[in-house]
Amino acid sequence: MELFRSPSGTRDWLPPDSERMAYLISAFAAQVELANYRLVLSPMFEDSGVFVRGVGDESEVVTKEMYDFTDKGGRSLALRPEGTASVVRAFLQHNPPVPFKAWYVGPSFRYERPQAGRYRQHHQVGIEALGPKDPYLDFEVISMLMNWFFSLGLRDLVLKLNSLGDDNCRPPYVRELSSYLEKNQNLLCVEHQQRWQVNPLRVLDCKKEECIAVKENAPKIKNSLCPECSMHFETLLSCLDEHKIDYVLDDYLVRGLDYYTRTTFEVACASLESSQNAIGGGGRYDNLAKALGGNDTPGIGFASGLERVLLACETQGILLPAVPSPKVFLADITGGGKAAHMIHVLRTLGIACDRAFDNRSLKSQLRQADKSGAILAIVVGEKEKEANCVQLKWLFPGDKDRFIQLLTVAADSSRDAGTNGRIFSPESDEPEKRDIIERYRLSDVLPEDLAYSAIKEFFRNA
Ligand code: AMP
Repeated sequence: MELFRSPSGTRDWLPPDSERMAYLISAFAAQVELANYRLVLSPMFEDSGVFVRGVGDESEVVTKEMYDFTDKGGRSLALRPEGTASVVRAFLQHNPPVPFKAWYVGPSFRYERPQAGRYRQHHQVGIEALGPKDPYLDFEVISMLMNWFFSLGLRDLVLKLNSLGDDNCRPPYVRELSSYLEKNQNLLCVEHQQRWQVNPLRVLDCKKEECIAVKENAPKIKNSLCPECSMHFETLLSCLDEHKIDYVLDDYLVRGLDYYTRTTFEVACASLESSQNAIGGGGRYDNLAKALGGNDTPGIGFASGLERVLLACETQGILLPAVPSPKVFLADITGGGKAAHMIHVLRTLGIACDRAFDNRSLKSQLRQADKSGAILAIVVGEKEKEANCVQLKWLFPGDKDRFIQLLTVAADSSRDAGTNGRIFSPESDEPEKRDIIERYRLSDVLPEDLAYSAIKEFFRNA
């Protein structure tokens, strides 16, 4: 029978990549929690209306890419294509106090043509801040995104900014743009020749050569902003200048979703292919809460795709940490019960360790120890089990010498109960300690109890 494979446009995450994703998430959480953003978990599917009304029924995300379906109860549902509409829906449903500052992480689903950096299920982290209209909140949100990227060590980032105005100044601008597009409609790309009237702003986002040529002479929204929107944008820009966060102004940055007002932004990573180089983006959405049936509540947020951030790190040679290998590996050739006990003790002492199962041969267990990346193998045979001893096998040359040194230092200084690195109990006999160390030097065998405390000491100092 043929094996099943993951669906097209999705991927499985296995170690160490899965651990690098987990690292990205924890670095993100640490960054945004500094600014009092708190975790929100919302369902992976919502009433389709949340996205149709929230993201916009003419947006590509809804018309072409949404995974919508009817469930067994006849409800029209959609897998979440993005996080903002869901968080705002949850905000309106639960009515928490404002300012409401939330962060989220989870999969997003879009029916796109799969390619490197473009998946049908990808993972986003993001923040949303609801309540204040304040341009300094825009600064906070944008600087959070940039600080996270900088903290990962990413370079060659371009922060693009634009203001889309508000209900006051955008409609006259859109009318002006429409009449320009009407005059030039025959020059637009095939798709926009049909659709420019539905959402004229979307033409500014088009990457087709024909539309690029037309939009060069199109009216620019920056020339139409009302004084309030201009002031908002200017305040944001001077705060970014003051904090030396570089940006470029991009008249064409309208972003794909319909809900944006005023500030929009996107971060491109120049090391990635241009069609998938957006590693984060967002903006202000002062009308979204109302579009979802709630009270007028301004908001701003961003989302960033973890797959792309990981790709950007890899492309720039940034190796994110994965989970370290176990430090100790237990090889038990007396049936396995002793390993069950020892591993339990070592883990209680906080030492990462693993073991072999199924009563394999010593050779096979040691082969597994080598592969595990552990530093130390503990071997228990019948002789050791009877004598309550263990045999230590250091898997990297040099570690045994350091371990002996530690045992010696510990033995020498054990008279002083407060000495760091003390392993033996002060009551135990000095010649006996020396004898144990000498025997260990020759045979690698230590009493089990001493092995626990010495190993703990060794890894504490390692
Ligand atoms: P958007 O809501 O389209 O701005 O998406 C937010 C972020 O999610 C983008 O900046 C990308 O990093 C990421 N992203 C969007 N679509 C995809 C996709 N199909 N595959 C991978 N990442 C994506």
